[in-house]
Amino acid sequence: MSSAVPQKSMPQKVIIVGGGVIGVATAYWLRRDGHEVTLVEKEPGPGLETSFANGGQVSAGEVAPWAGPGVPTQALKWLGRADAPLRLRLKADPEQWKWLWRFWRRCSLKAQRDGSERNVGLALLSRDILQEALDDLAAKGFDAAFDRKQEGILRVFATKTEVDHAAHEAERLEPFGLHQEKLSAAECVALEPALASAHQRGEVAGGVYSRRDQSGDAYKFTCALAAAAEEMGVTFLYGQTVAKLERQGGRITHVRTNLRRLEADVVVLAAGVMSPHLLDGITLPVYPVKGYSVTLDVPDDGTAPKVSVTDEVRRIVVSRLGTRLRAAGQAEVAGYDKTVERDRAQSVLDAVRALFPALGEDLEPEFWCGLRPMTPDGVPVLGLAPGRDNLYLNTGHGTLGWTLAMGSAALLADLIAGRDPSVDPEKFSASRF
Ligand SMILES: Cc1cc2nc3c(=O)[nH]c(=O)nc-3n(C[C@H](O)[C@H](O)[C@H](O)COP(=O)(O)OP(=O)(O)OC[C@H]3O[C@@H](n4cnc5c(N)ncnc54)[C@H](O)[C@@H]3O)c2cc1C
Repeated sequence: MSSAVPQKSMPQKVIIVGGGVIGVATAYWLRRDGHEVTLVEKEPGPGLETSFANGGQVSAGEVAPWAGPGVPTQALKWLGRADAPLRLRLKADPEQWKWLWRFWRRCSLKAQRDGSERNVGLALLSRDILQEALDDLAAKGFDAAFDRKQEGILRVFATKTEVDHAAHEAERLEPFGLHQEKLSAAECVALEPALASAHQRGEVAGGVYSRRDQSGDAYKFTCALAAAAEEMGVTFLYGQTVAKLERQGGRITHVRTNLRRLEADVVVLAAGVMSPHLLDGITLPVYPVKGYSVTLDVPDDGTAPKVSVTDEVRRIVVSRLGTRLRAAGQAEVAGYDKTVERDRAQSVLDAVRALFPALGEDLEPEFWCGLRPMTPDGVPVLGLAPGRDNLYLNTGHGTLGWTLAMGSAALLADLIAGRDPSVDPEKFSASRF
């Protein structure tokens, strides 16, 4: 490699660390720009960590950061409850304490709105870019089947006050290009008849519907996109762990894995919750927030919903993925432990059964948990790492990685190519920490 820094617009040798939905999307977009792309992933295939069995929602309508008014009080009330949607397990880990402090400082309506406004532009870009990529893949003859459903996402609430508040917040995002509709309880049931029972029990006071939102299996999508990217010329090194990003001053010169040392003009860090561990001298408050999902094979008899639903009472999201129903929820700030705890997983199953009681008791649940790579402000970290010349970050997508993957990757490709992105990258810079 020559010592001169290549011109931004020239094809470059790019190494991507991490093969989740974010890393694979990045590989695809950078390859489209003609770069020589290698992706290193420690697992034997793509999408096997947090992108594996998430809630399936691609949801521009649900971009509000979790840090918001009332969250600390609510978390205290839930202390000690096994089925609490949010749980803290304090560790002797300074990173966890610093992260919690930053999160707590963002627990205001003003900060939450600021986060929503930053995320919504990226979510809408992602929606367009996803379609553009699917059209491109179809034109190239790839079958990117991922149990996609384009029937919108409906958020349901138990009280009129909550519906009114959500509708008001939704209106605030209208000028950004996101249209959502306030629905009465009867309209919610008309849209999704499987909600009738919950409505009869008085649990549905109304909803907010984001008609152009969609859902699909993030894992299937990641695998399909990885296969297409490989055909397009991306090299995938599976089963290799990146141990170090070697640097001279502000420039990463090599990526060292457990098996080899790779030269790079540009490095993209998309390692999910492990991203901060590969950085030295850079503050990146991305911390794991554990969540659970349960997947059921469901009959096509109207007992399971077809529209993707977010139950704001039980704090779960539910998506129909072909012949399966996926429900996801729970937030546990408990370090890096990936054990599926039966009571936590069971509470997601209980919640989906309570919302849709006609679901048969004999359905066999598949439980899973994953670690959301969360920033305290609920906004991802994209762009050049502070103080580095050729290290780009694409991480910290928290609850929204599937929703924001394609837009984040396209934005990063623009930055690497020296093009002006359509979304202001400054809003996502790591220098905000
Ligand atoms: C229960 C749950 C429900 C969710 N529901 C939704 C939803 O409905 N909609 C939505 O938009 N988002 C949802 N999310 C969030 C979404 O799943 C994540 O934001 C997204 O998967 C993060 O993708 P990623 O590529 O950054 O991380 P990952 O998928 O974890 O990928 C990172 C990859 O980096 C690899 N890696 C790490 N370190 C190294 C190393 N040193 N060397 C090599 N490889 C390395 C890992 O093996 C991993 O494969 C949910 C998450 C959870 C847990």
